[in-house]
Amino acid sequence: MANKQFDVIVIGGGPGGYIAAIRAAQLGFSVACIDEWKNAKGGPALGGTCTNVGCIPSKALLQSSEHYEHAGKHFAEHGIEVKGLGLKLDQLLGRKDKIVKQNNDGIQFLFKKNKVTFFHGRGSLVREAQTGWEIKVATATSSGPSASTSSEQAEETIVGKHVIVATGSNARALPGVPFDEDRILSNDGALRIQGVPKKLAVIGSGVVGLELGSVWRRLGSDVTILEALPTFLGAVDEQIAKEARKAFDRQGLKIELGVKVGEVKAANAGVAVEWTNAKGEAQTLKVDRVIVSIGRVPNTFGLNPEAVGLKLDERGAIVVDDECRTNLPNVWAVGDVVRGPMLAHKAEEEGVAVAERIAGQHGHVDFNTIPWVIYTSPEIAWVGQTEQQLKAAGVAYQAGTFPFAANGRARALGDTTGMVKFVADAKTDEILGVHIVGPMASELISEAVVAMEFRASCEDIARICHAHPSLSEATKEAALAVDKRTLNF
Ligand SMILES: Cc1cc2nc3c(=O)[nH]c(=O)nc-3n(C[C@H](O)[C@H](O)[C@H](O)COP(=O)(O)OP(=O)(O)OC[C@H]3O[C@@H](n4cnc5c(N)ncnc54)[C@H](O)[C@@H]3O)c2cc1C
Repeated sequence: MANKQFDVIVIGGGPGGYIAAIRAAQLGFSVACIDEWKNAKGGPALGGTCTNVGCIPSKALLQSSEHYEHAGKHFAEHGIEVKGLGLKLDQLLGRKDKIVKQNNDGIQFLFKKNKVTFFHGRGSLVREAQTGWEIKVATATSSGPSASTSSEQAEETIVGKHVIVATGSNARALPGVPFDEDRILSNDGALRIQGVPKKLAVIGSGVVGLELGSVWRRLGSDVTILEALPTFLGAVDEQIAKEARKAFDRQGLKIELGVKVGEVKAANAGVAVEWTNAKGEAQTLKVDRVIVSIGRVPNTFGLNPEAVGLKLDERGAIVVDDECRTNLPNVWAVGDVVRGPMLAHKAEEEGVAVAERIAGQHGHVDFNTIPWVIYTSPEIAWVGQTEQQLKAAGVAYQAGTFPFAANGRARALGDTTGMVKFVADAKTDEILGVHIVGPMASELISEAVVAMEFRASCEDIARICHAHPSLSEATKEAALAVDKRTLNF
């Protein structure tokens, strides 16, 4: 029987892969997408890390835990009395699982709508044949109600003129300390702890560590974050990071910087973490569980890169050019498995751009206008250059800030932490970066992204009518602050 032939085969159904598949189908190509992620019953769970153990479940838990904290600590100031506040962790985690499933099912629906052929299994590159790339699909044919009951491997080969690899990334483990997802947790285990740990250690104070540490702190854990770097959130604008740190300290999130983590020993009773503080003093932290969030490793497991000569760099990422071309003809790669920020929206934009390039169009991703968000409370969001980057590059700039404490909507919300900050070219007033710490920073940053995409100046933002009362007025006022003419501060 002849192999099934497609114009485009996408390996990986996370945000990079599934969006690439849909865009390619919209452009008129015949498209297949292969994804191996299994749900608890062994069935498909499209959406990759983002949907299953990343962006979506973490935001669901952040929302629930924030409600819990508000009900316990902040409702009283609104005159709302909460008696007998309790936590049904099962229900909270169950809600998160439902949201994940809605997203999994939504992507399957989108595949049907766009006529993308879906294969549930592992895709491996075999060889470049005359009609295109041969891809082996090892399909798990599960016959039982759960993945572990009875699943056999069936294999088939499909052929694609173009291949887009979007195989994502995995959590990095501490050397010699593998994840057991019980005591030593990756992001996966950290999103489904079955009881609120009394004491929790988080190793790594990046986005994932801060978000998941916040979730469990709000639910009642005593959380200590151990960070190897001497600076808190080194990639964030210093002024913004300082403000965020003050807020986390107030909340009781303990953050230790400049530490060296030694032995991490799990036992039935908990985990002992040996570490040295910034002064070089040896310490032991005894906790119930440890979340290890020290970064992610590009994933090419099972893809067969060596056999086909697909070039990887020293980190194991697939080497691509600016347009996501690999060293192999008609093989492209996008998302976490290539260079650049490990963000879902970056993966999606690359997926769209590659599909459009295959169609002879000019898809493009502007790395300077990719927004970054940390969904803690306060939220932290930024786009473009930080003040310290501009200083280091010797760029003449002007900065302006506006505090949420002077914004009417923030006062009404009862959340006046933080500020909006603009940095702009001193001569032309072009916006070079926008940095926000405060309520709904994740939503507010979009205005800054649009402005920077259109190479707007602070004056442009200042002249735009912003709704009153709204948090976005703080954005307008921060733009005015660059010219030292705020109206409400
Ligand atoms: C806790 C956490 C929170 C996060 N929150 C955010 C956030 O709020 N915003 C944000 O932008 N980013 C966030 N991220 C990062 C985001 O999840 C990733 O950047 C994004 O998922 C990358 O998309 P991708 O398509 O490249 O890879 P993935 O999402 O990792 O998808 C890869 C898919 O490919 C499949 N696969 C791998 N190899 C094969 C193979 N050989 N054959 C078939 N299938 C294969 C995998 O099973 C997976 O389904 C978060 C990450 C974590 C861990």
